[in-house]
Amino acid sequence: MKLLEINNLHANIGEKPILRGINLSINAGEVHAIMGPNGSGKSTLCQVLGGREGFEVTEGSVQYDGQDLLELSTEERATAGLLLGFQHPVEIPGVKNIYLLKEALNAQRAALGLDDIDTFAFMKQVRELTKTMGMDDAFLHRGVNAGFSGGEKKRNEILQMLLLQPKLALLDETDSGLDIDALKIVSEGINRLRGGDRGIVLVTHYQRLLSYVEPDFVHILYQGKIIKSGDKSLALQLEAEGYQDILDAAS
Ligand code: ADP
Ligand code: MG
Ligand code: MG
Repeated sequence: MKLLEINNLHANIGEKPILRGINLSINAGEVHAIMGPNGSGKSTLCQVLGGREGFEVTEGSVQYDGQDLLELSTEERATAGLLLGFQHPVEIPGVKNIYLLKEALNAQRAALGLDDIDTFAFMKQVRELTKTMGMDDAFLHRGVNAGFSGGEKKRNEILQMLLLQPKLALLDETDSGLDIDALKIVSEGINRLRGGDRGIVLVTHYQRLLSYVEPDFVHILYQGKIIKSGDKSLALQLEAEGYQDILDAAS
């Protein structure tokens, strides 16, 4: 089943074209890695799909789960199961982490016509997930990401994903800044998300993550276009050879 279909997507930041004709098709159950040099437009692509402000789509179309994604508001996208993790997660010191998790879950349930989750059931579920992610319960009662280390923010991001069970998860450099143990835990979290009818997009610079979370497809984004796609061996090739030959061949 087709989950996401991007056709000739162009997007600007201000007057500047950043995405310049993206085509990408994701079936339910697939994991797609997006790699590419700094400044290629990887984060922009994730943010445009997530419906963040500050981008203007100038051409192209995006179908998500049978809907015109670009017609949906940011909130509608989230409740429709498209969740965006952040390369640089926001800090909201005044809001407790656990409160935000519960609000997000209840918003999603409300969109499905369900009542708020029972507090006891919610606490049980969240405690299990904090354990899975190797986090202390104290994190739940701190401000959202407030003073969290880079690795703690990334664990928190996967915890959110495991709780909310998105249909399509966009993870932007979830592996950056992680030590080896945290990388393993985060990878295991992503692998738990994987499968069924879920789609996962992993933006990463490193093969290391992809040895734990093996992608079905690897795409190289460069200057706002996907210039090459392949299977996991493409990431291994990049690791061994760097980008230059591929960029040269594409230009
Ligand atoms: P990547 O994630 O692949 O490193 P980005 O999507 O962050 O790339 O950036 C793509 C291009 O868009 C870069 O040239 C970057 O400088 C530019 N860009 C990103 N954000 C802004 C912004 N807020 N204003 C102007 N240019 C931006
Ligand atoms: Mg970057
Ligand atoms: Mg980026």
